[in-house]
Amino acid sequence: MDALPIAEENHFEHRSTHAGVMHACGHDGHTTMLLGAARHLAATRDFDGVAHLIFQPGEEGYGGAQKMIEDGLFERFPCDAVYAMHNWPSLPPGTIAVRPGPMMAAADRVTIHIEGRGGHGAHPYLAIDPVVVAAHIITAAQSIVSRNVNPIDAAVISLCSLQAGNPGAMSVIPREATIVGTVRTFKRETQDMIEARLSELVQSVAQGFGAKARVDYERVYPATINSRDEALFGQQTALELVGEAQMVPDLDPSMGSEDFAFMLQQRPGAYFRIGQGGSESGCFLHNTSYDFNDAILPLGVALFVRLIERAMPLPA
Ligand SMILES: [Zn+2]
Ligand SMILES: [Zn+2]
Repeated sequence: MDALPIAEENHFEHRSTHAGVMHACGHDGHTTMLLGAARHLAATRDFDGVAHLIFQPGEEGYGGAQKMIEDGLFERFPCDAVYAMHNWPSLPPGTIAVRPGPMMAAADRVTIHIEGRGGHGAHPYLAIDPVVVAAHIITAAQSIVSRNVNPIDAAVISLCSLQAGNPGAMSVIPREATIVGTVRTFKRETQDMIEARLSELVQSVAQGFGAKARVDYERVYPATINSRDEALFGQQTALELVGEAQMVPDLDPSMGSEDFAFMLQQRPGAYFRIGQGGSESGCFLHNTSYDFNDAILPLGVALFVRLIERAMPLPA
């Protein structure tokens, strides 16, 4: 269903058998939970209606949810509401977190192309150095979140990769530089503003140095926003399963992202986090020593089952 290009550094028997690929986000565990719910629901049928169990592939950047929707998911399998769940290492096992409103941010990919003029490192006055332009663009971009975003709102701009020149050529000024990064936001107007500001800054900084630059701005995943009624219904369901002390109604949203967001744009619903523990020993999502906690499988099954049974109760 899903895996990441990560070489697993665990040594237990159930570690990945495919070199350089591992289930470092626990989607294999989520799949098992939904299969468990399918088996229970098929055997007991303690609900009145139709439940569709959606095994959403390609979450790690391939937007499987969007592809399913484009393939006619909701026309072929009509749904009044949609629910999803993800394990969360920083919450202890036995806990469930869900809240109305934002759960995860929108994730955009930014690619900045800078074109200068290559030349000899000893004669930079004859060249237009795209590395210097890149350095100024990277610094200028830091002002957008600090100076243009409302501090009550949240946004991140991380320029994570800079490619220019050749490490083996100490005296060659390259012609081009490329910067790649990501922008995370919750509100559409903040996203629009950052896209516009980034483009203006990049072009004007480059122009100031006599270079050319442009931004390719790609909106990858929208923000994951739970609808109010379904999130409150989810809280009641979680409360019944784990009790007040273990139900987390106010978890801070994460700047991470999730393609279930596309489904929440189509239907009301809620995205849950289920505590799995392990973060204290370095077992984070996408870490080389991540391990899905099998002890939370029954609770995950119960959550899916009870959402369906409570949403579509048998007539009394
Ligand atoms: Zn994941
Ligand atoms: Zn992941």
